[in-house]
Amino acid sequence: MLGNIVLKENAETVAKASSVEMINTLIENVENKDDTSIWDSLAEMTDLYGHRMTGHVQYDRSVSWVMDDVKLHPELTAWEEPVTVNIWNRNAEYAKLYIPTRSPPEIDIPMLGSGQSIGTGPEGIEADVIPVKTFEDLEKLGSSKITGNMVLFCADFVSYAENAKYRISGPLIAEKYGAVAVLVQSITGYSLMTPHTGAMYLSSIPSASITIEDSKLIERMYTRYIKAQKNPSIPNSDKFVKPRVKLVMNAESFENAKVSSNIIIDLKGSEKPDEIVLLSGHFDSWDVGVGALDDGGGAFSGYGALKMIANLPIRPSRTIRVIMWNNEETLFRGMHAYVEAHKDEIKKHVFAMESDMGNFNPWGMQVMGSDDMISNLKDLGKRYLSNVGGGNVTKIDHSPTNDISALGEMGVTLGGFESLDKYSQASPPSVEANEGYYRFYHSHADRMEALDKDQLRANAAAIAVWAYIIANQ
Ligand SMILES: [Zn+2]
Repeated sequence: MLGNIVLKENAETVAKASSVEMINTLIENVENKDDTSIWDSLAEMTDLYGHRMTGHVQYDRSVSWVMDDVKLHPELTAWEEPVTVNIWNRNAEYAKLYIPTRSPPEIDIPMLGSGQSIGTGPEGIEADVIPVKTFEDLEKLGSSKITGNMVLFCADFVSYAENAKYRISGPLIAEKYGAVAVLVQSITGYSLMTPHTGAMYLSSIPSASITIEDSKLIERMYTRYIKAQKNPSIPNSDKFVKPRVKLVMNAESFENAKVSSNIIIDLKGSEKPDEIVLLSGHFDSWDVGVGALDDGGGAFSGYGALKMIANLPIRPSRTIRVIMWNNEETLFRGMHAYVEAHKDEIKKHVFAMESDMGNFNPWGMQVMGSDDMISNLKDLGKRYLSNVGGGNVTKIDHSPTNDISALGEMGVTLGGFESLDKYSQASPPSVEANEGYYRFYHSHADRMEALDKDQLRANAAAIAVWAYIIANQ
């Protein structure tokens, strides 16, 4: 691949005095605490327009905000590229849990319908709830026990990869056993009564996420009920009822209902303008919170990095391109549209980076690429970023993020830019590193307070250094 050849030479050629000077200037941004412009910009846009769910008018208004902002930087060229998207509207929704010993016996439980879910109809669906920890548990119960009931997937949080399958595939599997609806314990390890939404495969039954607290409550109710059935003489057995939930969701979907856009911003290279180093984050969010962390931080870190490089007196050799992707949260239509529109130039993409795991203290990149490439990147990271963070490199054998995966399949080296954990400072690729991220994502709590001004700028500076090194020789 082009990238491999280039970077082999790069480790040496980048040591040119002028490049080192430029890199040091970029690194100075890490400690420049007076500059809170990245956080402030994201705050202004999200305060004005709110979330950026694909297909929603607020997405378009936020795109316009970015396009206007780019005009303040004449070195940069920005344009929108069309992306045909579906529209999914959550509309009014609620859930009630029945506990006859309470007054009143109907308890409102916080919930969020899963993205793309069908609605329940205005009357809603009321049914007993059967909690299961795994798909195997569901299979053991089988159609005879499940038909006509709601299924609650209540697996304890291990990791996103391990748990998200219940939200994503759970409805499609539960419907086969005759479930009338699905509830999912929100995919997070920590909760202050916070439900987290997210995508699901299309299914003929509706699905919603509930909080860890209510999921565990339902599980305890069910366990006591089963005990009381087996042994009616246990104390309070007459009060132990099956958990029963009424779920009302007015969600509606419209296929291919709108032409929306990706945002593309270029800083033209001085010597090889047709070769591209790609920085990116996704611009779309869910319709709760404002998508500050997921993925406003990633999109604006890339954009902030580009502005830092544009401020340098010497332009890098290759073009640095920022993409703010559309529709990462469901169908990756932004990625597919870009690959289709640029299929003849993909081979000119030297490297593609995405930041989509929070922008806390910068850690570095998980890279899908050749061993030679990775060993060169490791050297460069150590040489330039070891004092400020963001210079670690780990090899992975799959795409680090969603939006750049198609580029990886076409041979482009991929880097997923990641942070230390927000709370424990655990490093990727350990599962613990992302625990803090999952406290916020896809929830009402994904607001500006999830991000720190200095950390956001430090991420942008580290991304800028990587982009500059890779783009310049
Ligand atoms: Zn994301």
